[in-house]
Amino acid sequence: MDYDAVVVGAGPAGLMAAKRIAKKGFSVLILEKDKDLGTRTCAEAVSTSAFKTAEISPSPSLISNNVDGAYVYPPDEGKAVKIYGATYKGYILNKPLFLCALASEAVSAGSDLQMRSEVKKVVRKSGEARGVVYEQKGETKEASFKVLIGADGVGSVVSRECGFGTEGYELIPTMQYVMVNCNIPERGMIRIYMGNEVAPLGYAWVFAKNEYMANVGIGVRGKPAKPYLDKFVANHPDFFKNAKVVKEGGGGVPVGGQLKEVVKGNVVLCGDSSGQVIPITGGGIRTSMAAGSIAGEAAAESLGSKDLSLLEGYPANYNRYWGSRIKQSLRVLRALERLNDDDLNLLGDILNGDDVVDLANGLDVKRVAFKLMRHPVAAVKIASILL
Ligand SMILES: Cc1cc2nc3c(=O)[nH]c(=O)nc-3n(C[C@H](O)[C@H](O)[C@H](O)COP(=O)(O)OP(=O)(O)OC[C@H]3O[C@@H](n4cnc5c(N)ncnc54)[C@H](O)[C@@H]3O)c2cc1C
Repeated sequence: MDYDAVVVGAGPAGLMAAKRIAKKGFSVLILEKDKDLGTRTCAEAVSTSAFKTAEISPSPSLISNNVDGAYVYPPDEGKAVKIYGATYKGYILNKPLFLCALASEAVSAGSDLQMRSEVKKVVRKSGEARGVVYEQKGETKEASFKVLIGADGVGSVVSRECGFGTEGYELIPTMQYVMVNCNIPERGMIRIYMGNEVAPLGYAWVFAKNEYMANVGIGVRGKPAKPYLDKFVANHPDFFKNAKVVKEGGGGVPVGGQLKEVVKGNVVLCGDSSGQVIPITGGGIRTSMAAGSIAGEAAAESLGSKDLSLLEGYPANYNRYWGSRIKQSLRVLRALERLNDDDLNLLGDILNGDDVVDLANGLDVKRVAFKLMRHPVAAVKIASILL
């Protein structure tokens, strides 16, 4: 079959890209290898603005829990930094249902969504990517396109087949349990735990989904995640003494920043496949949806005017806001990597909730760096790297 665009992967990035292209009247095929949407492990936390980016309303059926703020615990758990206020509200999604809502929008715009369809290969003709070979329920099929969108996440086949570089692409391994019968007070507050004993070069999280269950996970670098997650659970009997794990999963989160190249001829990468994740938080749902939208818009323009160079509008538009946030957050991550537990405790003493949000999300890093400059140890160890 011939399509204007083929989108590989029905995650946040792919579904947004497909919707944008289909809305402009072009034919789009979305190929998803899994039999269900949203099977990938995720802690499901987003800010309220994620729904604006998704262009759908925050229907209660798509949300497991409302988030009022966060506690960020330095190694000395006695002194959490509290992040609270109207700007910090968010949600713990029911991500499979959220993706169904995005899929519904993409399909109603005219996209053809095919599940259990795993792309194996990209076919080239005269040096240009022209088709994909995919396996659908045991059958090998082929679809051709003018534009290909690789929204196939970590380990992207499109990226590999089309020769996108991997320089700087760095994965942090994660492990997450869904636990029931937890005893979590203030369920609207998400909890983040940092420290080299707790989660070396990463963090642990406790996100209540409702009165019954929570996403409890960890990302660590250079060590296996599961023993650290088990230790974290054992060290928090107040939450988990009578709790049981009902689901476990994991996966890599690309925290090394965005790939240098996200467009190559008529092929575009967006979302996790190109490292479009906020490095410190590992948050990639909204950044991927934004990438999908912008990439889809550029693809539609390029299809409309038969001018592939218009695809370059995608990185240009994305980088204006998101690219710079990803870059700033990566700089902070690199600075945090050098800190020991005493330094992290010191940061816990100096920083307030606004500061932590600005640093982690790559927002106003300069402001926080100037604040740290006033402290002799923090000035040398952290602020100097950030300025
Ligand atoms: C443990 C964990 C916790 C996380 N928690 C959060 C969080 O709380 N908040 C947040 O914002 N982000 C979180 N993230 C990150 C977030 O899940 C991702 O950044 C986001 O889902 C990326 O969207 P995507 O569309 O790029 O890729 P994905 O969501 O990975 O979607 C890619 C899709 O492509 C499909 N696919 C892959 N290969 C092929 C193929 N060859 N053929 C066809 N289909 C294919 C996959 O099955 C998948 O459906 C977390 C990640 C992990 C691992």
